[in-house]
Amino acid sequence: VACLLLVEDDDTIGTAIRARLVADGHEVRWARDGAAALADGGRSPDLVLLDLGLPDVDGTDLCRRLRVGHPESVIVVVTARDDEMDVVEGLEAGADDYLVKPVGAAELSARVGAHLRRAGTRDGAPTRLAVGHVVLDLASRRATVADREVRLRAKEFDLLARLCAEPGIAVRRETLMSEVWDEHWSGSTKTLDVHVAALRRKLGPEAAMITTVRGHGYRLDPVG
Ligand code: CA
Repeated sequence: VACLLLVEDDDTIGTAIRARLVADGHEVRWARDGAAALADGGRSPDLVLLDLGLPDVDGTDLCRRLRVGHPESVIVVVTARDDEMDVVEGLEAGADDYLVKPVGAAELSARVGAHLRRAGTRDGAPTRLAVGHVVLDLASRRATVADREVRLRAKEFDLLARLCAEPGIAVRRETLMSEVWDEHWSGSTKTLDVHVAALRRKLGPEAAMITTVRGHGYRLDPVG
């Protein structure tokens, strides 16, 4: 049973979201404000569904603090329509994905399910991917660059692993979005760009290995 932390101050929305997630078989803890989310004890949630518009704290700040407190959790921020700045700030604060309000029940189920399935496949047989100075251990989910360990967030790791799986091949943006985020994905790819930017920062001198292929996607080359 997956354990979810729902952070939502709106009673009606929270009740509907919780009902759907419980119907999907998940265990849901519901924090109605930022203080309650930070005070949430017990084991780290597998996934946090975080409404960015909260009465007591700035949603982006809270996202950053939850990311520190729960490095392994998938964080999905929920934002009001047309709030692009919120989305980008949320992703930069450590969120793995976002949903736009009003969140449809089917989309909620599909997206949460996809994230949890991916998180579940982390416990696989030991496998290693190595391209140039980048080495990914898929079992321990550790990344090293030129023998230096680099701490990657869940989706950064998955994205780098996907690019490492086909070195020298330009991978389409749509392919990356559907394989790393959501098989039913459609629409904006800014989540992808924010994660690539973060990866490049963390790769340091090896960032040149990731090439932007205009109008197509990204390619990882053994030598930058
Ligand atoms: Ca709210």
